Amino acid sequence: MSSSELPEWMETDLQQIREAGLFRSRRTFQPQPGGRCLLEDRELINFSSNDYLDLAQDPRLVSAASEVLTELGVGARASALVSGRTNWHTRLEEQLAEFEGTESALLFPSGYAANLGVISAVAQEEDTIFCDRLNHASLIDGCRLSGARFRVYRHDALEKLKRELAKSTGAGRKFIVTDSVFSMDGISAPLPDLCELADEFRASLIIDEAHGTGVYGKDGRGLAEELGVEDRVTIRIGTLSKAVGCLGGFVAGSATLIDWLWNRVRTQIYSTALPPSICAAACAALQIIQTEPERRTRLQELSQALRSGLRERPHLTVPDSRGPIIPVVLSDPALTMQVASDLQETGFLVGAIRPPTVPQGTSRLRISLTCAHQREDLERFLKALDGSLARNGQSR
Ligand SMILES: *Cc1c(COP(=O)(O)O)cnc(C)c1O
Repeated sequence: MSSSELPEWMETDLQQIREAGLFRSRRTFQPQPGGRCLLEDRELINFSSNDYLDLAQDPRLVSAASEVLTELGVGARASALVSGRTNWHTRLEEQLAEFEGTESALLFPSGYAANLGVISAVAQEEDTIFCDRLNHASLIDGCRLSGARFRVYRHDALEKLKRELAKSTGAGRKFIVTDSVFSMDGISAPLPDLCELADEFRASLIIDEAHGTGVYGKDGRGLAEELGVEDRVTIRIGTLSKAVGCLGGFVAGSATLIDWLWNRVRTQIYSTALPPSICAAACAALQIIQTEPERRTRLQELSQALRSGLRERPHLTVPDSRGPIIPVVLSDPALTMQVASDLQETGFLVGAIRPPTVPQGTSRLRISLTCAHQREDLERFLKALDGSLARNGQSR
């Protein structure tokens, strides 16, 4: 292909994306305190943020970051392996290990980099990875990059996983990989059942607590804590970009695991370390997560309240889940975009999620709550949703 053909080919592809109602445009928003944001000059209630514990703009995180920013500057200047590690990186890793109750922890530039790097490093070509159908793109990409055999299962039909595990009798290792809380459904993975299967078939269980950390468990360590299976999970991956309100990925585990990852994972070795100011902010956030459990409690109460409100509307499809991610499946991508746009007109920013992020025919609104939202925000939202659905011929 000559370089002049490239734009033409892309134009054709873009046209197809548009015709399928799947074109994604770029918009800018200004985050505001209190679970709000500004779009141009209008204030919207922001139901599309993963800042579940309202920490991204917490004055304690901001001042921790500002102090280090003034002292050490903006960028880390090198990968952690070369010379990008500061005392703040060490301190955050120690604090993460203490928080997670593990011997050690390791930072990554992002959760995406952690998932991609860890899975592609631990799984080899002769191995088999069992991957949930709803897993996050970063886990799926890690599976692909590893070159291992790759089997997709459904967490709501584990007999298939069991059969596949039983059939896999080769020399290679077996890995079961799953989100702990599925990001577009808010549904929890059946971690105890997966632990049983992992034990029975000598597989290693790798979980991604991106939406679990800070939100689930009495002490906020995630779904594995809540379900009492932390010690049975081989590798626990998390992100600092969601409930922790910052940026960065991490793995918590034994000293051996962490030393091995430090030596082997390419997304860690060949990428610049996190800015030290971000590490300082994340240290402050972990402290808050441990000392202010009321944030989690309030978040769960708000989530239950909105779910009950949605459930009172039997024409709506709301998956059976718990926690701050609440999808309303409208199926059709154009309808989903229209309702999201109506909601924006009436003052609410809600994610409109379409394929390929979710399976065909399951386009949805993805409402995500933070502990900064108010009950009356939820009431007003339900009214606005009713109005939009009625206008689009979708009422009961
Ligand atoms: C957001 C997300 C990630 C990626 O984390 P980042 O830190 O934003 O790169 C990984 N896994 C899941 C399930 C996520 O939702």
